[in-house]
Amino acid sequence: MAYIEPAPIIDKENPFESMMSRFNTAAELLGLDNETYEILKNPVKQVIVNLHITMDNGKKQVFEGYRVIHSDTLGPAKGGIRFAMDVSIDEVKALAAWMTWKCAVVDIPYGGAKGAIKCDPTKMSKGELERLVRAYTQAMYDVFGPDKDIPAPDMGTGPQEMAWLMDEYSKMNGRTVQGVVTGKPLVLGGSLGRTEATGRGVMITALEAMLKLKMNPAHSSCAVQGFGNVGSHAAMFMAERGLKVKAISDVTGAYWNDKGFDIAEVIKYRDSHNKTLDGFKGGDLITNEELLTAPVDVLLPCAKEDVITVHNADKIQAKLIVEGANGPTSYKADDIINSKGIVVVPDILANAGGVTVSYFEWVQNRMGYKWEADRVNRRSDRIMKQAFENVYNTAKKYNVPMRIAAYIVAIAKVADTYKLRGGF
Ligand code: GLU
Repeated sequence: MAYIEPAPIIDKENPFESMMSRFNTAAELLGLDNETYEILKNPVKQVIVNLHITMDNGKKQVFEGYRVIHSDTLGPAKGGIRFAMDVSIDEVKALAAWMTWKCAVVDIPYGGAKGAIKCDPTKMSKGELERLVRAYTQAMYDVFGPDKDIPAPDMGTGPQEMAWLMDEYSKMNGRTVQGVVTGKPLVLGGSLGRTEATGRGVMITALEAMLKLKMNPAHSSCAVQGFGNVGSHAAMFMAERGLKVKAISDVTGAYWNDKGFDIAEVIKYRDSHNKTLDGFKGGDLITNEELLTAPVDVLLPCAKEDVITVHNADKIQAKLIVEGANGPTSYKADDIINSKGIVVVPDILANAGGVTVSYFEWVQNRMGYKWEADRVNRRSDRIMKQAFENVYNTAKKYNVPMRIAAYIVAIAKVADTYKLRGGF
């Protein structure tokens, strides 16, 4: 009989609550006044639309689409569009707020937003997806804009979806508007380095943390959960810097190789096997829980929310966790992780390399110019290192974990800017 992995313990928390729990702790430490607290807590705009799409079989199907702008205080709102069956408005609200904090942590002039469509992109044809993206763009025409709200890819979307979005928006506008969206294909005004940017930022912040912890990359190992755009690039960069990547995973399973995987080979395998690791023979099959609690020095959760929970936090052996995904640690697990002395580079810092290079893409579009890959990487590495240092020093100053420190940095920045701009 085939081995069946035991069903995971479902512990999906309300993501908005999860975000708010950390926000509350940081707001209290900062002594944030009630008025500003209420303003920063609530998104400025929430739009829900129903999109009617003609499917390939000729029948119409209705899809629910969302866009939440959490804040436009620091500049135009910025954030990806997620295609998934299990999205909810609460999740989009949390993800939009995380974008606000993320942009503030890395000090780029953007507010935070997130969009989503409840759909399963793996079960849709290219034509159906294109019609869906175009309908969503039309429905959000008044929301989006290069000076208002700039979408980008997120889970389930990529450069092709961004190309359709740019094309539809441009047609409605009567002119090419490249800066309305980032994460575009290179030929349409995408930036060199954008695809790898999130994984690269994960590596940069991981190495900065290792330096502080006096961990030598050449004598360290790591486990990477998720082998999509973030996980595969993070794994590749970590291996390039000398770490042994001993565990990897994707939706089809997790794999262990004590000698360390040859990541370029694994990427080749994935790309020639329908984008999954299904049937991969380069390591022993393990469970996702085993990957998270594996005997490695660094753990990189780069897949999805709420994977590190009260049910497994206690068993984690890594000394350092660097969050490539948004919200991979449930807030209820924070105390366990902290009491074990595990250092966490939080999502709003660790995965901010993506939006940082999105910002560079937007800047290039507005200049009508293209930067060399080297310039993109040098500038984004510098921003990531500065942001890490700032959060690290804030953690020391307030004597709190880096997660709370990152929120302190972000909330202080948005609150101060809000006060300067004033209101009614
Ligand atoms: N979706 C990515 C994130 O969560 C990128 C957002 C962007 O580039 O605007 O950070």
